[in-house]
Amino acid sequence: MRIAMIGTGYVGLVSGACFSEFGTNVTCVDKDETKIAKLHENIMPIFEPGLDKLVENNVSGGRLEFTTDLTEAVKAADAVFIAVGTPTRRGDGHADLSYVYAAAKEIAEAMDGYTVIVNKSTVPVGTGDEVEKIIRETRPDAEFDVVSNPEFLREGSAIEDFMRPDRVVIGTESERAQEVMRQLYRPLHLIETPILFTQRRTSELIKYAANTFLAAKITFINEIADLCEKVGADVQAVSKGIGLDGRIGKKFLHAGPGYGGSCFPKDTLALVRTAQQFDSPLKIIETVVEVNAERKKKMAQKVIEACGGSVDGKRIAVLGVAFKPNTDDMRDSPSLDIIPALQSAGANIVAFDPEAMTEAKELLPNVEWKENSYATMEGADALVIITEWNEFRLLDLKRVKELLKAPVMVDLRNIYNRQEMKDAGFEYSCIGRPKLE
Ligand code: NAD
Repeated sequence: MRIAMIGTGYVGLVSGACFSEFGTNVTCVDKDETKIAKLHENIMPIFEPGLDKLVENNVSGGRLEFTTDLTEAVKAADAVFIAVGTPTRRGDGHADLSYVYAAAKEIAEAMDGYTVIVNKSTVPVGTGDEVEKIIRETRPDAEFDVVSNPEFLREGSAIEDFMRPDRVVIGTESERAQEVMRQLYRPLHLIETPILFTQRRTSELIKYAANTFLAAKITFINEIADLCEKVGADVQAVSKGIGLDGRIGKKFLHAGPGYGGSCFPKDTLALVRTAQQFDSPLKIIETVVEVNAERKKKMAQKVIEACGGSVDGKRIAVLGVAFKPNTDDMRDSPSLDIIPALQSAGANIVAFDPEAMTEAKELLPNVEWKENSYATMEGADALVIITEWNEFRLLDLKRVKELLKAPVMVDLRNIYNRQEMKDAGFEYSCIGRPKLE
């Protein structure tokens, strides 16, 4: 088996490397020459734990290669995966499918013999039909099938998620294509991963339904956290109390500054638009989108209140700007709302993130970037934790207090214990947990 992976980003690179680890020959293609040049030198263009080793092993094993030449890669492939971006389209919130359609056209021009075109990008219902149409129009004589195979990996644990997923979803009614997909995912079948074959449209919708459900779960606990603050209850105990109910489950019940990242914001919005277009509005998800956007804005206010009502002229130390730990991805990160709002209120921001600073420098102007956590705190009026990287979980509180001008900490991820913070002499604010008097 030989596959081509079109798009060598977070999904394409990880999926390609994992398929090659399964023994498939993989060519990862990207238009971005710098990305491919880096990969030729075994420099990862993204930060993902374990990825460099996985890539190195499979490149040296001769199963994984990188190129900018789509034609050659597609010609030789039994299956071609589309793993290009589907960001929010400017202006209307729909998914921008221009990269998917452009890739489909290029694939059609290069295909040689029966080819399965697999859409791994997250795409609205009906995109597979459109891809099929583009290919048919470009190559009326070609033998091919278009399959939907959404990806559920999470950045930060992407390799483990790909290698041991909860399920694999494959949308196609073609038996020939099903057979190719079965072969590709055989190693996962062998470890008893549920492999769900569905219609293509159903498969496309499963991905959006999953992501919007998770976004709703996060938003739900965030609103409960706000209520906890008002009534003097503890959201972490509430999460535990409800999460132990097997019907609810423990995951995605951590209150925080609002969801961000490369998927939830754009996917919730895109599903809302699809539903409106088909005159079947999803009012719950519309509200989730609205509540989450407001929440990210409100977080700056929380910091301002912790600083006594004003941050004008104050120096605020920020730990973590990536949308979550173990990634350098800044797309729709809460920090992109919180930091500019604090700057508008007159604050000077000093920040550190273990992996996301190169990316963040472009997106967050006028921030003073430091090389480690403690360097951000020197002379700062408050410390704000936006992303819960492990290295921020066990700071030396005595040293933190000595470095800060005032012992104010705003922990937007609830990673510290309130009693310990009180005992260490901090003015500590967090999410959905009442202040200890
Ligand atoms: P990304 O932006 O990291 O990567 C996309 C890559 O595709 C880029 O490197 C770009 O240069 C390349 N590209 C675009 N058009 C191309 C073309 N015609 N030929 C060759 N290369 C081309 O995006 P991503 O985060 O990997 O996401 C890809 C898709 O997977 C999206 O639809 C996303 O919603 C979905 N997804 C993402 C995640 C995630 O955690 N990032 C998880 C599941 C699903």
